Amino acid sequence: MIYLDYAATAPMKTCAIDAMTDAMRCAWGNPSSIHEEGARAKTVLEDARERIAALLGCRPAEILFSSGGTESDSTAIYSAAEAGLRTGRRHIVSTAIEHHAVLRPLERLAKNGFDVTLLKPDGDGIISADAVRDVIRADTCLVSVMTANNETGAIQPVRAIGELCRARAIPFHTDAVQTVGHVPTDPGEIGCDWLAASAHKFGGPRGAGLLYVRRGAPLTPLLLGGGQERERRAGTENVAAIAGMAAALEESVREMHAEAERLTRLRDRLIAGLAAIPRSVLNGHAANRLPNNVNMSFEGVEGEPLILLLDERGIRASSGAACSAGALEPSHVLTAMGQPPALAVGSLRLTLGSDTDEAAVDACIEAVRDVVGRLRSQSPDWQAKTAGKAAFLLP
Ligand SMILES: *Cc1c(COP(=O)(O)O)cnc(C)c1O
Repeated sequence: MIYLDYAATAPMKTCAIDAMTDAMRCAWGNPSSIHEEGARAKTVLEDARERIAALLGCRPAEILFSSGGTESDSTAIYSAAEAGLRTGRRHIVSTAIEHHAVLRPLERLAKNGFDVTLLKPDGDGIISADAVRDVIRADTCLVSVMTANNETGAIQPVRAIGELCRARAIPFHTDAVQTVGHVPTDPGEIGCDWLAASAHKFGGPRGAGLLYVRRGAPLTPLLLGGGQERERRAGTENVAAIAGMAAALEESVREMHAEAERLTRLRDRLIAGLAAIPRSVLNGHAANRLPNNVNMSFEGVEGEPLILLLDERGIRASSGAACSAGALEPSHVLTAMGQPPALAVGSLRLTLGSDTDEAAVDACIEAVRDVVGRLRSQSPDWQAKTAGKAAFLLP
């Protein structure tokens, strides 16, 4: 089996499994209990907070633990919206390429009277700081732009965006789920008010995440109940998962530079191999992308059968296109980049990680070549184009 879907979730690191097992055995108490078992769990919890804060270059009190990237994004967005309501500001700037964990809360806010501007990226999948500057207004209560896109790996200029937001005192949130643990991501340098991360994208457990909340930034709890997380997030903390997240992040950051170099070489080898397939296109900027991301479209091929046939051959990949109600929806990210739907339904995302080596990359290239050939030979659309009855979209 060759796993090339690290952006969907990464396998658990051994150090994270060990940290979780230890915590489940020895720190199973409720961290809010004042007896010895509670105190032991509290120590593990606060130790994880301090280590994570050190890795992100912030204060421990600025780290809020959550159930994952989705909860962290929602918490930040609703906090900004509520602060906006208090100050009479109801305009939000974000992008058409955000993860649904950002787009869906914004849709709900739009239904409730907020004015949401979604910026489109350029053809390489990048949102410029100038584009943000052009649309912010006196009543903008939130700018939300991700650090890197989960489909195309396109890295966004969040430092420049953070700088312009700070200069105008506009709250800035960034979904950093795809960069924390992979490429340097420092909330202080970005100049954001909120930054969301998720453990399972860097070798920690699913169901654990964090939100960096800059000291002084507004925070409205999403969950109400007990006084956990200094009254900012009710519910007994998932101590074991948080310990696993801290261990995984420590190891990821320690290996980050060497791993990024290694993966960049493998990524470019994979891109070169796949680009040799006729009428294919690389989605997202060729260089300004995550070290582990490859995203290609192949004319005449739909994403779903491509993924399923690769799966049969032991290659785990993913497609940006989502199957909703039996119909294949083109990827909202590729569509926003201006890709025609006929190509956007056929995208293949391959994301590399710790287990990926050269042999895996070469086996993947061969499998994709075969499967694309097979699907094209069965496609009436492709047949018509080869017979000269219709025009190809790609050279
Ligand atoms: C995976 C992902 C999320 C959601 O994180 P969960 O922990 O699965 O809730 C949000 N944003 C981006 C960019 C992601 O890749």
